[in-house]
Formats: sequence, structure tokens, C-alpha cells
Amino acid sequence: MESLKKILFNVIFYITIIAIIAVLLLAALFVVMKLNVYALTGDSGEPVTVLIDAGHGGEDGGAVGNSGLLEKDVNLDIALQLRRQLEFSGFRVYMTRQDDDPIGTGDTVKERYRSDMAQRLEMYRSTKNDIVISIHQNNFTSPDACGAQVFYSPNNEKSERLAECIRRSLCGLLQPDNTRDITKAGSNIYLLNNCDKPCVLAECGFLSNPDEEQLLSDREYRQKIAFALYCGVLEYTGQL
Ligand SMILES: [Zn+2]
Repeated sequence: MESLKKILFNVIFYITIIAIIAVLLLAALFVVMKLNVYALTGDSGEPVTVLIDAGHGGEDGGAVGNSGLLEKDVNLDIALQLRRQLEFSGFRVYMTRQDDDPIGTGDTVKERYRSDMAQRLEMYRSTKNDIVISIHQNNFTSPDACGAQVFYSPNNEKSERLAECIRRSLCGLLQPDNTRDITKAGSNIYLLNNCDKPCVLAECGFLSNPDEEQLLSDREYRQKIAFALYCGVLEYTGQL
């Protein structure tokens, strides 16, 4: 009788211990999930959505380096790598283009360019996104000019902070000597000037600078740029 009581006591004791541990584990899991969900959502409680615009494409190659490196290809590769990194972290990502197919249509180069701009702007406006990041490479008459430059849209006050986060990240991680400030876009940057979302354009480097062109031709360096842009977005969304 005595040993039956002891067995019963032991059974109840261990069941209670297991139940307490299970409840604690569930509570911990709930806290972790809640933190994670919080980290990946914007003001609305929805996942933060990012529209990545890889500049140029199709017949429009953009700037061309001395070695023949085309800006449109550098832009697309950085954009695709940035998408992977953001999606891996739970962001919802949209792209203006995912390959080299032209966006614009029309009979003449001029018509196709206008159509390209109009369609990109329509995507900026109509895609359900919290942030727009346009990716480009720079070009200048002097081969000495180098380093990233980040422009921001004048139409949304959050754009400036997003640009600053991305500038800090690009310079801090890759270009410590780059002292170039962020720049408010003028009417010459059509898409930024007409977009009312938090919107930036990152000129990641100069294809007219031989050293930077060499760097930009390297996929690993482009991955580092994508990572710096990604860290800038994390900082902007309060996750870093
Ligand atoms: Zn460009």
C-alpha cells in the first residue's frame, strides 16, 4: 500500500514537472515569435514591403565602364542579391525587373524610354510597398570620382532618414573614406521627384573610375553592396 502511494506520488510529481516545463517552453516560444513578428512588421502590422528598382535594362545599358561592364547588369545583380537577403529576413519584396527584358514599349528609343519611366513610376505608386530603393552606378567625366552617393525623394519626409541609414551603412561597411552627404533629388531625377513613398536612389559606385569598375565587376563585392543596402534597410526599420 505504502509503495503504491509512493508510485502515485512520483507519477503526479513528474507529470507536474513536465507540465510546468511545457508551459515555460510554450511561453518562451510565444515571446520569441512575438518579437520576430514585431521585427518584421511596419506601422500597419503587415510585413515591411520593399520595391527594388534595378536601373536601366534591355537596350538601355546605362553607364559603361572602360572594360565594357554595363551598369544595367551590375544594378540587376545587386538588386537580386538584395532581394534574397531581404526575403530571407521576412520582408516582402517586389522588383521593377528581374531580368534584362525591357520595361518600356514603343516604336522609337525615345518612346520606349518614356514608357519605361512611366511604367516604373506606376510600379512605385501602385505596388503595395513601404520603401522604394532604386539601384544605379555612377558615371563622371573625371576618372577620379569614386564612392557611393545616395539621393532621396523630396516628397516624403521618411525618405531622408532612409537615405541616411543607407549612406551610413554603405560608407561604414565599404567606403570609410567616403564623406559624400545624402542629396535631395531635384527634377532631374524623375522617379524620385514624382514618388511620394519613402524612396531613395543609391548610386553604389562610379563605373568611370577604373578601380571601382574593377570592384563592381566582382560578384563578391556586389554581394557586399547588397548586404550594406540590406543593413541600411534594417536600421531604417529599427531592426539593427
Ligand atoms: Zn543609372
